[in-house]
Amino acid sequence: MQTNFTPEQLADPHVETSEKILRSCVHCGFCTATCPTYVTLGNELDSPRGRIYLIKDMLENDRPADEKTVKHIDRCLSCLACMTTCPSGVNYMHLVDHARAHIEKTYKRPFFDQLTRNILALVLPYPGRFKASLYAAKMGRPFAAILKAIPPLKRFGAMLDLAPTEIARPSPYAKPGAHAPVAEKRGRVAILTGCAQPVLKPGINEATIKLLTRIGVEVVVPEGEGCCGALVHHMGREEKALVDARRNVDAWTRAIDNGGLDAIVITASGCGTTIKDYGHMLRLDPDYAEKAARVSALAKDITEYLSTIDLPAPAIQPNLTVTYHSACSMQHGQKITMAPKSLLKAAGFAVKDPPEGHLCCGSAGTYNIMQPEIAAQLKERKVRNLESTRPDLIATGNIGCITQIASGTGIPIVHTVELLNWIYGGDKPAGVPDARPGQRTSLEALVEAAE
Ligand code: SF4
Ligand code: SF4
Repeated sequence: MQTNFTPEQLADPHVETSEKILRSCVHCGFCTATCPTYVTLGNELDSPRGRIYLIKDMLENDRPADEKTVKHIDRCLSCLACMTTCPSGVNYMHLVDHARAHIEKTYKRPFFDQLTRNILALVLPYPGRFKASLYAAKMGRPFAAILKAIPPLKRFGAMLDLAPTEIARPSPYAKPGAHAPVAEKRGRVAILTGCAQPVLKPGINEATIKLLTRIGVEVVVPEGEGCCGALVHHMGREEKALVDARRNVDAWTRAIDNGGLDAIVITASGCGTTIKDYGHMLRLDPDYAEKAARVSALAKDITEYLSTIDLPAPAIQPNLTVTYHSACSMQHGQKITMAPKSLLKAAGFAVKDPPEGHLCCGSAGTYNIMQPEIAAQLKERKVRNLESTRPDLIATGNIGCITQIASGTGIPIVHTVELLNWIYGGDKPAGVPDARPGQRTSLEALVEAAE
C-alpha cells in the first residue's frame, strides 16, 4: 500500500512503525474471510482491510479521530485472526494499538461511553475493587434486563449479566512467596497472578502451582506484580499500560536476579499476548527496553512450558471427550495451537476441535461489555459450534473465554491446566464429570475424536 507521510511525521517512531505496517498491506482482502466482525456485520469498514484504510487516512492526515473511525475501530475485537490469515505479514496488532492510542488522545467520547470505560479501567485491573464490584453486581443482577433496555445503560446491564452468581474465596496460593517443589527439583518459574482471573477462578493458578510443584518445579509468586496492562492497552491508554508493564518487568527482574527463572508462566492467554509484547511496548524506553525484552522472551503460556517437560504417567484414565476452544490470544496472538491439545491427548482425553475454531467467542477483554450485541451473536455462534461436537466438557486457556462461553452453555468449561492437574494427581475441577470406568480402546478414541 502506498503511503504519503511527511519526513516530519515519520520522525515520530510510532508513526514510522505504523507506516511500515501500512506499506506491507497489499489490499488482497484475504483477511476479511476470517474476521469475526466482517463475517457478522458484512461491512467492509468492519473488516481488517477497511480498518487499515481508516487508520491510514487518520494517521496520514494527522487529524483527530472522527466518529466513523472510532465506531469501526471500537468494533474490532483485537482477536488477530487477520494476522493469522494475512499472507503479507501485516502486523495489525501494532497498527490498531497505535490507532487506539491516537483515538484516546484526540477523540471526545460521549458521556456514558467514557463513563463505562473509566469504570472498567478503575475497577477490573485491581482484584480488591473487582471483587467488591462483583458483590455489588450480585445485588444489581435483577435489574440487568431493565438496564439493557435503556440504550445508554445497556453496557451496565451486560456487566451484570456477566457477573458470577457465586464469588470464589481467594486462594492462599496467590500470596507472594515461593512454592517449593515436592519432587526432585528440575526448574524454577514465576507465575503471573494477574487481576481478574484470581478473583473469578482462583483455582486456575492454584492448579498450576500444585501441578508444577508436584513435578519438581519451584513456583515463585513475585511481590509487586499485578495486572499485565492489557485492558487499558486495548483502550488506548498507553501511559497507564506502560506503568503496569514497567511494574511487572521490575517484579520479574528481581525474581530473575534472585535465583534465576526458566520461564514466566501465564495462565490467561490474553495476558500472555500482552506480556510477550512488552519488549515492543517498552522499546523506546532506554531504562526498560532490554529488561522488557528479556521478560517477553521468558513469558510462556502454561501449556507451552509444560510441553518442554517430561510429565509422569497419568494417575487416572479419564475416558472423557474434551472439545478444545482455542482462545484468539492463544491461536492468533501467540500462535500456540498444538501444545494444549497434545497435552490433553497425552493425559488420556479424546480431544475434538469445534467447527469455525478460528472465530472469536466475543469475550475479547471488555468487548462483551462495550459491544454487547456483536459479542452476543459471536457467543451464540461459538456455543452452537462447540455443542455440535457433543463433548463431555470444554477446555480452554483464557478466563475471558471461560466466562463468556459458560454464560451460554450447560456443558462444563474449565481451564486446560485444571484438567492436567487432575489427571496428574490433583483434585478434579468442580463441575467436571467423573472419569468413566473402563479403558477406551485406541480405536474408539480415534473414532470419537474424528466425529
Ligand atoms: S483483530 Fe479480529 S476483529 Fe479486528 S480486524 Fe482483525 S480479525 Fe477483525
Ligand atoms: S490479508 Fe493482509 S495484505 Fe491482504 S488486505 Fe488483509 S491485511 Fe492487507
